Amino acid sequence: MSIRGRLLALAIGGVLPLLIVGLTVLWVVWSEKQNQLNEALEQQAELAAVVFDRWLDAQYQPLRTIASYPPSHLSDSSALEGNLKAVLIHRTHWIDLRVLDASGRVVAIDPAGAENLPSGVAEKLLGEARRGVPDVETDWTRGEGRYLLAVAVPVEGGGAVVARIDGAALNEPLQGITLPERALVTLLDQHRRIIYLSLTAESALGLDLSGVDQLSAINDRNTAVIIKRSSLDGVERVYGLGRVGKTGYVVMVGVPSAILYAFAWRQLMGYAVVGLIVVFCTMTGALLIARSIARPVRLLNFAAEEFGGGNFSARAPTEGQDEMSRLGMNFNAIAERLQKREARFAELDRLKSEFVSTVSHELRTPLTTIKALTRLLMREGLEETKRREYIETISVECDRQIDFVLNLLDLSRIEGGVLRVTHEPVDVDEVISSVVKSEARSAEKRRHELRVEPKPEVPPVCADPKELRRVLSNIIENAIKYTPDGGRIILSACEEDTQVLISVTDNGRGIPPEDMPILFDKFHRGRPAPQSAAMGDGTSNAEFLEDADVSGVGLGLYLGRNVMEQMGGRISVESEVGRGSTFTLHLPLWSDRGCNKPSSEDCAHGQTVAGR
Ligand code: ADP
Repeated sequence: MSIRGRLLALAIGGVLPLLIVGLTVLWVVWSEKQNQLNEALEQQAELAAVVFDRWLDAQYQPLRTIASYPPSHLSDSSALEGNLKAVLIHRTHWIDLRVLDASGRVVAIDPAGAENLPSGVAEKLLGEARRGVPDVETDWTRGEGRYLLAVAVPVEGGGAVVARIDGAALNEPLQGITLPERALVTLLDQHRRIIYLSLTAESALGLDLSGVDQLSAINDRNTAVIIKRSSLDGVERVYGLGRVGKTGYVVMVGVPSAILYAFAWRQLMGYAVVGLIVVFCTMTGALLIARSIARPVRLLNFAAEEFGGGNFSARAPTEGQDEMSRLGMNFNAIAERLQKREARFAELDRLKSEFVSTVSHELRTPLTTIKALTRLLMREGLEETKRREYIETISVECDRQIDFVLNLLDLSRIEGGVLRVTHEPVDVDEVISSVVKSEARSAEKRRHELRVEPKPEVPPVCADPKELRRVLSNIIENAIKYTPDGGRIILSACEEDTQVLISVTDNGRGIPPEDMPILFDKFHRGRPAPQSAAMGDGTSNAEFLEDADVSGVGLGLYLGRNVMEQMGGRISVESEVGRGSTFTLHLPLWSDRGCNKPSSEDCAHGQTVAGR
């Protein structure tokens, strides 16, 4: 899994519980809000039930007055009818009023000739009267959609006073109730038939709701809440139910659920939107953070792949101050070092190839000469002088070969750390004379003037005579090689404090300043001098460029420096392009106690390159 994926999973892992908690809180808030609204509706229904109950009580009141008459008066029909008339005359919605005895027989009635009570209603009312309880029954005998409320109070000793009231009388108390917006009040009788409906037409009156299961919620309670879609207008409403005293009547206050819960729902949606915005912001933030971490890792990885693929200039981004930028910096530092090392390896590879070809060349050229001269020598009738000349040349070429091979051997000794030199008193004059003598012929061939001045009068130095000769020879050979024909090579020696300095000065092509720091490096070979370069004495020389392309493998100075250091000395050089160079060997003086330590100051001028 990528870093980005992991960080994203971490963010989701953090947000998910937040989301679950948020949803749970929303659900709890929503449920509580719903409960509050439902309770409020229940209270409304309870209030409406009380209003209806009080109205009923008001209807019972005149009946109670009549029922409280003494038995003698209650059995006097003519007297009673006068009382009944007096009551009825003030009550516009009352249809009739009667007194029944215990067997249900009408003792008195007003208006006279009013129809009989339906038998079921009469039985129910008398039954309740026997139990001493006032009662109300719905009388539907008037026809479809019309009903009367038969209310009765018991008479002591049996019987009941019964009044029948037009259902329209209910409008007055029930319409006076203050209700929520678009609320619907419904009154059901004990048979769950609608006897009052505040909004819909009268056609709904008498509608039988006994089959509605939800209504059973009020069966053993005084109040309840149900949600039901109306069969009349198809609107889903939340109904608060309130039982009307002991009558079995039920008042229903219904509000369309869309209206009742609208505000709470909007609030809930508001919370949900805020929650979603928080989740969105958190996720966006997490994404941005994940990106800010993953991006440098990706770029670093890209840089590493590029680098691994061979693009050594590939670098990681390092913006900022955080760990990633520090990682990038460290990567870049390593890449920098590896790039340099790679360049060095490439350079070494180039040098090695160059070395192999130079060595082959250095070996082949003299061998070719020797072979050619040997053939000439085998001819008969060769002049004695020619013969001698050829043999000498062969001898010189053999010496060069031996020197060359010895150089290679020295190189391997130095590399293996096993180069050993002796420390003994060496006569400088003798060394200089012998080397000059052996190089005289080469110098002569190039028409160089090779001389020593003034005659060295210096004390013996502490050195390995053989090695000193080789180092000095190489320096003189270089002077011969890198000085155009007809040049001047001067040797000198002087004593300086605890050292003797042997200098070789030529008026050759000189060394460019940028080559100075690497002059003594292994396999370093100088580039050909520019065309405008002039002889040390200021005259330009046409052969100069050809001379620049001289043989050599770039080992002489490297070996010389190492050998000189082994002997306790060093080599310094000063040079100017086009004017010439001076190489100086610094050697410790020989004393009775052995080698003197060389002092740091000496009489050489110019740039000191090696040995310090
Ligand atoms: P080689 O002579 O085989 O090239 P050296 O180690 O002796 O190797 O010399 C290294 C380089 O130093 C030479 O290639 C040359 O460019 C430069 N050099 C040495 N001596 C002189 C000199 N006297 N004048 C000019 N350049 C010199």
